[in-house]
Amino acid sequence: MAGILEGKVALITGAGSGIGRATSRIFAREGAQLVLVDVVAEAAEETLEAAKQAGAKGICLKADVSKSSEVETAVARTVAEFGRLDCAFNNAGIEGEPALTHKCTESNWNRVLAINLTGVWLCMKAEIAQMLKQGHGGAIVNTSSLAGIAGAIGGPAYVAAKHGVAGLTRAAALEYGRHNIRVNAVCPGPIRTPMLSRLMQFTRDAEQRMVRSEPLKRLGEPEEVGETVVWLCSDRASYVTGLPMPVDGGFSAQ
Ligand code: NAD
Repeated sequence: MAGILEGKVALITGAGSGIGRATSRIFAREGAQLVLVDVVAEAAEETLEAAKQAGAKGICLKADVSKSSEVETAVARTVAEFGRLDCAFNNAGIEGEPALTHKCTESNWNRVLAINLTGVWLCMKAEIAQMLKQGHGGAIVNTSSLAGIAGAIGGPAYVAAKHGVAGLTRAAALEYGRHNIRVNAVCPGPIRTPMLSRLMQFTRDAEQRMVRSEPLKRLGEPEEVGETVVWLCSDRASYVTGLPMPVDGGFSAQ
């Protein structure tokens, strides 16, 4: 049976780890051709190697999403290689340093905003320009967070950036709907990835505490975010746009 993204060209940022890596595998399973972008080239190459062994086609590109020239080059290379861009998952992000608002350094603030918010905007800018040129629409999914829906303690830059991603997603959905470009976001809860492991090391019993406060009483797996992203990118979600969608085990329903 054909996959739900058969023949589509999909660009994924932060493809070298966690949610990006798991989602790349699902894009491949559903028949997409992959453009895997990460600032750590070897990590994206590992993701691609595994996808190729499962029969996928694709390329890897090293790019820092906070640098406009590198993002533009990544989209241009996508088009040079595959002739077009149909889907994008703007997912690269960092957690930044943990600190309360009055202790957050300016350099931490600037770095988190540059990668987690400006990076998503730069990617959308280049991707949408290409989709408009092609003239047959497209689908974009950005990675926001539960911290893009509600506040969280100890990461003011992260919370601000992820709220920004949710707003940017809504704005772009309104601007480009008439061109059949759909723009959505996923808002993951605690997902078992290297980023979450780094965050959990600062709090005693962090995992048990998170699990206790989750309606589904467990952490999420990166594949559970990936399945949602791929669905949002597919024609099965053809009337869904402007949605920051929680993938959080019910946490935001509380
Ligand atoms: P991760 O650290 O496992 O993976 C992030 C990937 O992004 C890495 O491969 C890293 O090299 C890449 N990256 C970082 N900075 C980059 C840059 N400037 N340019 C290009 N690539 C860059 O993290 P993850 O948990 O898979 O997180 C993925 C996304 O999901 C992030 O945006 C994160 O904020 C978001 N998120 C994660 C969770 C969670 O619990 N894991 C929850 C909510 C949101």
